[in-house]
Amino acid sequence: MIFHSALKLAQAVRKREISAEEVINYFLRQIEVKEAGIKAFITVCADQALEQAQALDRRTDLPGLPLAGVPVAIKDNIVTKGIKTTCASRILANFYPPYDATVIKRLKEAGAVIIGKTNLDEFAMGSSTENSAFYPTRNPWNLECVPGGSSGGSAAAVAAGEAPLALGSDTGGSVRQPAAFCGLVGLKPTYGRVSRYGLIAFASSLDQIGPLARSVEDCALLTRVISGHDQHDSTSSPRSVPDYLAELSQPLENIKVGIISGDLLKDVNPEVKEAFYFTVKQLEEEGAQIEELHFSSWAIGLPCYYIIAPSEASSNLARYDGVRYGYRDLSEKQLLSMYQTTRTEGFGAEVKRRIILGTFALSAGYYEAYYGQASKARLLINQEFRQALDKVDFILTPATPEPAFSFGAKADPIAMYLSDIFTVTANLAGVPALTLPVRCSAKGLPIGIQLISDFFQESELFRLAFLVEKKVEFIKEYNKIN
Ligand code: GLN
Repeated sequence: MIFHSALKLAQAVRKREISAEEVINYFLRQIEVKEAGIKAFITVCADQALEQAQALDRRTDLPGLPLAGVPVAIKDNIVTKGIKTTCASRILANFYPPYDATVIKRLKEAGAVIIGKTNLDEFAMGSSTENSAFYPTRNPWNLECVPGGSSGGSAAAVAAGEAPLALGSDTGGSVRQPAAFCGLVGLKPTYGRVSRYGLIAFASSLDQIGPLARSVEDCALLTRVISGHDQHDSTSSPRSVPDYLAELSQPLENIKVGIISGDLLKDVNPEVKEAFYFTVKQLEEEGAQIEELHFSSWAIGLPCYYIIAPSEASSNLARYDGVRYGYRDLSEKQLLSMYQTTRTEGFGAEVKRRIILGTFALSAGYYEAYYGQASKARLLINQEFRQALDKVDFILTPATPEPAFSFGAKADPIAMYLSDIFTVTANLAGVPALTLPVRCSAKGLPIGIQLISDFFQESELFRLAFLVEKKVEFIKEYNKIN
């Protein structure tokens, strides 16, 4: 069962070939066996999950549930009623939310079982899960390497077979980069496709919740369940949600794929570059027309992101003051010093760095020079994207500049930030982007590519990814870690 697809599991539960209880027990056992090495979870909800599964088994309407009995792991920055939600931060270490995020509500309605809450970089700030206040998560493909971040726990859980599906959040690559590091399919949906009600905010103009799965089919299935309009999120789109899974079988015709030009690949690891051109070849064999695109704005994406994201974060994180939420230093009697020690003790180093950067960028006299300038740069990037997507249907890039790196390898924050060079652009532009594993490096680490399409073209994106997936047969690589 370990590497069965979610699709098959749900089918089997719907037909009562296996009970939801048996499924959840199986995965809870996997977690028991593997967690000591991987540490993907902050909280395993064994009791609640078992109860949820037993309740499902008693239902008479199982055949109507798309995710009947499928365990799903949830990044610990998505709120779950009565289940601790920490953001991997000391400041929220004992936060029990009084409500479910909309995506959680939708998962439950679809018959999914919440199996646990996964580790992340504190407040989703990072690319390796080393910034968790609790412990780092390890990459199931090589325990000496990071799983990526910030949704590293979600990615590691799915890659290790501790859960068939997971949710992450993606502000600058946090679903796609860990998916690439762990050999998974990960999607950042179009801004507005998935409700963020109950996602603890990092940078509100960039955040999206996204799925992680081992196959395109599973990713399509999960995306459909979580997508759609929500009255609780004013940025969610009222557009109808296609049946992504059913549409996978529709052929794509006259595909035009733009690939980023060679100069943007010059600092990319040679094996990643090889995997990228290998994918180009696969697409050509499928009849795709390939066109090289010259983005003059690609390189400014990263600096632009690292002004906008920390600025928004500094504002969003102002609410953690020890009064309204989370940890408070009770020894302090004066208001100002209570704020100071609460935040000093509650936040980790990277979160503090972002708050300082963001506060500086927004401060009087500097606002125009930093935030204003970054917003203009963002417009430029968006314009270039629009022009490119008028010419081609998809844009292909590597997912990451290199495969998973070792713990401690990126102690310099700038080196860490550079891991996001290919992913931040889609968040700035708001368009959907998917990463997909295509092969393994000589050291046995997965290498992913990224496909980007126009707004709300998730269905097309899945179809193209499905095509590539069938050609590269990455799933076979899982035999190496099973
Ligand atoms: N790695 C990026 C950052 O540190 C992206 C994080 C994310 O997408 N949540 O900001």
